[in-house]
Amino acid sequence: MSTTRMPVLFVGHGSPMNAIEDNQYSRGWKEMGKNLRQPDAVVCISAHWETIGSQATGMEQPRTIHDFGGFPRPLFEMEYPAPGSPALAQRLREVINNTDVQIDLRWGLDHGTWSVLCHIFPLANIPVVQLSIDRSGDAQLNYDLGRQLKPLRDENILIIGSGNIVHNLGMLAWGEKPFDWAVDYDRRVKQWILDGEHDSIIHYEKHGSVAALAINSSEHYRPLLYVLGATEENEPVRFYNEDFFAGSISMRCVQVG
Ligand code: ZN
Repeated sequence: MSTTRMPVLFVGHGSPMNAIEDNQYSRGWKEMGKNLRQPDAVVCISAHWETIGSQATGMEQPRTIHDFGGFPRPLFEMEYPAPGSPALAQRLREVINNTDVQIDLRWGLDHGTWSVLCHIFPLANIPVVQLSIDRSGDAQLNYDLGRQLKPLRDENILIIGSGNIVHNLGMLAWGEKPFDWAVDYDRRVKQWILDGEHDSIIHYEKHGSVAALAINSSEHYRPLLYVLGATEENEPVRFYNEDFFAGSISMRCVQVG
């Protein structure tokens, strides 16, 4: 295995407030950043940008999107002024062969991206391109798209998926211990990642009520499939933030490579 190959990251992002809070999660993300060598650019697949077909942000300077409501003013004033990379957006069109990636000039960086990158790369000096989650197919499609991103790892590009492995907003229980089903499914996914059992992660609908509760809508889970698709067998795996937020959200982060 090439020693210059860039690792891939999955980040459990949870509440947008983590962007401006110094807490266990934001400290974990800072540690992730410190343990990485600096990439030339980042491709981020965020739970908060879903499209039919694939799109990549192609602007020189993506805006910071405040795609949430009901949070305090400092969160709406937060900016993450990282540059974009039209060249990397074009490169995504080249490496992804199973669909025609559209260049987007309207989106920007949504909070799935900037709320974590502001801790991982606080200087905001590394170019960032967002790749949308393609909802024209199932989880297998997203995994297959992730496989096509692999060459980028040898070009000093960091691939990040931002979502949550277990994410059920309807079951949020503030200040409560995590639900048994949440702990159960999060642990299963951890073990499948360690064992390279990606089919079990892709075909989550086979795992019954536990998976149905953990993934009641799949947009926060799918970024993980892109990330795992871009991995090779037997790469080292490291976990961060192995904890839960409000009972029903797993904050687990994964570094492979
Ligand atoms: Zn989210």
